[in-house]
Amino acid sequence: MNALLPTQFSSNITSLIGGKASSPSGHQLPVFYPATGQQIATLHEADADEVDQAVKAARRAFDTTDWARLPVEKRQELLLAIQAKIIAHADELARLECLNLGVSMRELRERHVKRAAYNFRFFAEYIGQTKGDVYDQTTGYRSVVVREPVGVAALIAPWNAPTALASMKVAACIAFGNTCVLKPSEQTPLALRCFVDLLHEAGVPDGVVNIVNGRGSVTGEALVNHPGVDRISFTGGTETGRRIMSQAGLRLKPCTLELGGKSANIVFASADLDRALDAALVSIYSNNGQQCLAGSRILLEKSIADDFIGRFVERAAKIRIGDPMLDETELGPLASSGHRDRVLSFADIAVGEGAELLTGGKAASLSGDLAGGYFVEPTAVFAKSNSSRVCQDEIFGPFAAFLTFDSYEEAIGMANDTQFGLVSYLWSDHLPTVEAASRDLKSGVVWVNTTMTRELRAPFGGYKDSGVGREGGEASEQFYTEIKTVTTPTRPITVKKIGISD
Ligand code: NDP
Repeated sequence: MNALLPTQFSSNITSLIGGKASSPSGHQLPVFYPATGQQIATLHEADADEVDQAVKAARRAFDTTDWARLPVEKRQELLLAIQAKIIAHADELARLECLNLGVSMRELRERHVKRAAYNFRFFAEYIGQTKGDVYDQTTGYRSVVVREPVGVAALIAPWNAPTALASMKVAACIAFGNTCVLKPSEQTPLALRCFVDLLHEAGVPDGVVNIVNGRGSVTGEALVNHPGVDRISFTGGTETGRRIMSQAGLRLKPCTLELGGKSANIVFASADLDRALDAALVSIYSNNGQQCLAGSRILLEKSIADDFIGRFVERAAKIRIGDPMLDETELGPLASSGHRDRVLSFADIAVGEGAELLTGGKAASLSGDLAGGYFVEPTAVFAKSNSSRVCQDEIFGPFAAFLTFDSYEEAIGMANDTQFGLVSYLWSDHLPTVEAASRDLKSGVVWVNTTMTRELRAPFGGYKDSGVGREGGEASEQFYTEIKTVTTPTRPITVKKIGISD
């Protein structure tokens, strides 16, 4: 038992199938606390057999119990019970997530866990209002269009916000009457394993939500390729997304892919510059810089650039790096040593490309237990051009790249000149600029004069290599339901008689 883990939590992380925890067996993988580099748990990987059992358990729950046909009031009660359970265990979930991810407890409690709880409330309310369609234009006939649960979904979550992102998938999936097999990243299994236990305590029937733990190349592949899976919802890197979609295509299984980003944060001289500055810092350095929707390319109108960058760098250098368990910490460690090394390699790449290193660019050295942690200083560079790697590659760390522009056309041209198109941030108090840019930006979301503000009712997802499909109220309903048209005559019809001639 590791002293850092809550007392009731086992440091042997296994899968949970049909309501039962698997016994520890199979390939073992170490799980680390990124703030110290210390191993805190051991993950026991689910192999193809275990994945098969999980999919079969989900299929049984879907086909042979009343789960898929539960009255909406009962389903709402259950979703609200899950919300209450998450709120009651918010500290425990935040602590487990912190131990895996190194994001500060404060951010985890205030954003991630709150959001996880709200996801269930949101879908509880949403399903109370869903409706079908009626077509009665064809004389003598009525066609009723209904939506039905699909079956078993494979839900694959990344390591950068495991509970916040996976809970959205689980909530949407079960709200519409499906069952699922959830696969977290092998780096961050702790909080999600606890989360699935909490779902069962809240009353989710056995087999409805199963979790398999292990590497993407083993457990993930077995899940994606399992013939019993009807839908795949994936959040992660673009290359993994390509692979999953091509595998799903062979079996004609619909998937949604929420992938990477290299989002432009465009600040016009007409913006409220104090607010834009606060937001630019939050957009790149929150969640330790590890977020697909980070405002990682900061595009400044030339007339304001020197002053803006000067103030940004001054503030970035004062960000409090340290123990993610402490409330005052603003930047914790990166999630793994390998990821830290990758992020830091971009400082050399930037300099090699002729960029100016404005601040950071090296590992942050802390003392005591934290000396072994994967800390990186908040980093910012002034890039030579938008075609440089620091402006095109998703770095996924506390690493901002600045560019400047002279005209509206140049700003939008640079913003759109990327393989990605997840979100854009736009700062201006000049209405025609806002209207034009909201139209011209090629991204799934445009946030105007605000930091990231997820509206769950609205679709979320990316243009171009940032994804396929959307998540959100109606978008999730469409993904997690099959649509069926039932056509009935409104009075007895006369059927043409065939086969009656002698
Ligand atoms: P990966 O694509 O490596 O992994 C995502 C998940 O997929 C993990 O659970 C991983 O398992 C699993 N996986 C990996 N390979 C396979 C495979 N062949 N078959 C099935 N599953 C597989 O991404 P990261 O975990 O590194 O996450 C970071 C990425 O996610 C970033 O690029 C980021 O932009 C993107 N992201 C996108 C978001 C969005 O909403 N658009 C939100 C958050 C992140 P394991 O880790 O165990 O190998």
